[in-house]
This record gives sequence, C-alpha cells and structure tokens, in this order.
Amino acid sequence: MSYDDNNIFAKILSGQIPCKKIYEDDFVLSFYDINPQKKIHALVIPKGRYSNLDDFSINASSGEIVGLLKGLNIVAKKLGISIDTGKGYRALVNIGEHGGQEVPHLHFHLFGGESAGRMIE
Ligand code: AMP
Repeated sequence: MSYDDNNIFAKILSGQIPCKKIYEDDFVLSFYDINPQKKIHALVIPKGRYSNLDDFSINASSGEIVGLLKGLNIVAKKLGISIDTGKGYRALVNIGEHGGQEVPHLHFHLFGGESAGRMIE
C-alpha cells in the first residue's frame, strides 16, 4: 500500500495547508471537517503515513494504535460529545473505493451535537 505524500491531509500535517485545529498530540491531529455533515463534524487523523485503516492495522505500532484510539476519546471529550461529557456521537471510517474514501490518509469522522440518524442513508 503506497502512501501519497501529496494528499490534502499530509499537507495539513506538514503545515502547508491550514486547518481549524481541535487537538494535537504526538499521535494524532484533529480538526473540523471543511464540509460539515452534522452540527459537529470533526476529523481525527494519525500523524503517521497511513493510507487507510487496513494499512494502519497492519503497519502501525502498538503505541500508534493506542494513541489514535485514546485520541478519539480526548477529542470527543473536548467537543462535549463523549458519553461522559455529552450525548454520544458516531465515529466513522471510510476505507477504499467501496467505502467511499476520498482522502488517502486514514481519518476518523466524529459526528455529534445532534442525532447521527440512520447508519446508512
Ligand atoms: P472521506 O470521504 O472519508 O475520505 O472524507 C474526506 C473528508 O475530508 C470529507 O468529509 C471532506 O469534507 C474533508 N476535507 C477535505 N478537505 C479538507 C480540508 N482541507 N480540511 C478539512 N476537511 C477536509
């Protein structure tokens, strides 16, 4: 699985393109989606060069995997949508062509602030 260093999220990570940052640590960067689908629509991406969830599952270190999962909760808490700070949210990952993935850098979508609705529209 080759990684495209020119994808838009790689450019956000390198600072070439700005983002509306929510949170950052050694493992993840989180920012608001440019085209929000719900009241709150955040993206959480690993800092490593991983094209999709399969690539990440196969190649990421245990630290990176834990860091990403912890990062999801940290961001949800910050946004007030986690189970302990709010009413919950939907985490969604699109993987590859049939999954509808447009940007080839692994990203979790977090939808919250209102009901996420049916799982598949
Ligand atoms: P996916 O279809 O899962 O690959 O989702 C890609 C997401 O990236 C879409 O929801 C886009 O709105 C979002 N997106 C694309 N470019 C940017 C950007 N520059 N900043 C924030 N979100 C973006």
